[in-house]
Amino acid sequence: MPAMSDLSLPARGEVPRDQLVRYLGEYLNLGAFKDPSLNGLQIEGTPTVRRVAVSVDTSLKTLQHAADSGADLLIAHHGLFWGQPLPVTGPHRERVRTALMADLNVYAAHIPLDAHPEVGNNAMIARALSLQNPVPFGEWAGTKIGLAGELPFEQSLQDFADRVQKLTGEICLVHGGGRSPTVGRLGVLSGSGAGSIPEAAALGLDTLLTGEPEHKHFHDAFEYGVNVVYAGHYETEVFGVRALAAHLEDRFGLSWQFLHHPTGL
Ligand SMILES: [Zn+2]
Repeated sequence: MPAMSDLSLPARGEVPRDQLVRYLGEYLNLGAFKDPSLNGLQIEGTPTVRRVAVSVDTSLKTLQHAADSGADLLIAHHGLFWGQPLPVTGPHRERVRTALMADLNVYAAHIPLDAHPEVGNNAMIARALSLQNPVPFGEWAGTKIGLAGELPFEQSLQDFADRVQKLTGEICLVHGGGRSPTVGRLGVLSGSGAGSIPEAAALGLDTLLTGEPEHKHFHDAFEYGVNVVYAGHYETEVFGVRALAAHLEDRFGLSWQFLHHPTGL
């Protein structure tokens, strides 16, 4: 016969929403990061979570997909609320309304999910590329949220870009600004990381792998002498939410699915 306290535990495969929100806040160390994203539970839905959906963005399509799939909770890297008050009108209203009508909890994990040492976007990419001796890299509001290290073997820039393409399924944009055409010492910074080219150069990295190019950083690659491989903002940020969902499956037995709505950017 189970002890009395065991009787109050939820069955595996379901978790009270508030317990899950508390767990996520601690596991993701939400309070440690400055972030324009309103991280945490953004919209409160059903009080018990059994089915989780995860996505990179919270477009109307994504929210509708989560609602149609019967998810109780959507965890997104890019949530609905950023930095400043936003009237709930127009497309924003439609997004919020879709979640409310479906009783869908919406949870955002932005910078904490780039930086997380186990399930973060950068940790997952670094692991997939077998990055050795990783150290924090990629300053963001006073914290380093990416990783830098060495590849187990040097590769030509093209071979490296091909390897990244195999990982993400998308063709990379390559700016060969490096003094050397090979990749050995690499910085990884998911999303919009081109602003870290000077930091990469200062660390002696030959190559930066990031998501999305910005025009103002084009010349930096060539003048600071760093190769930059742009693998896509979306494509570099699918890893964290999927790893987090797998972690929640391990921990609580929750079923989950990834909602793939690529932007091509
Ligand atoms: Zn992002």
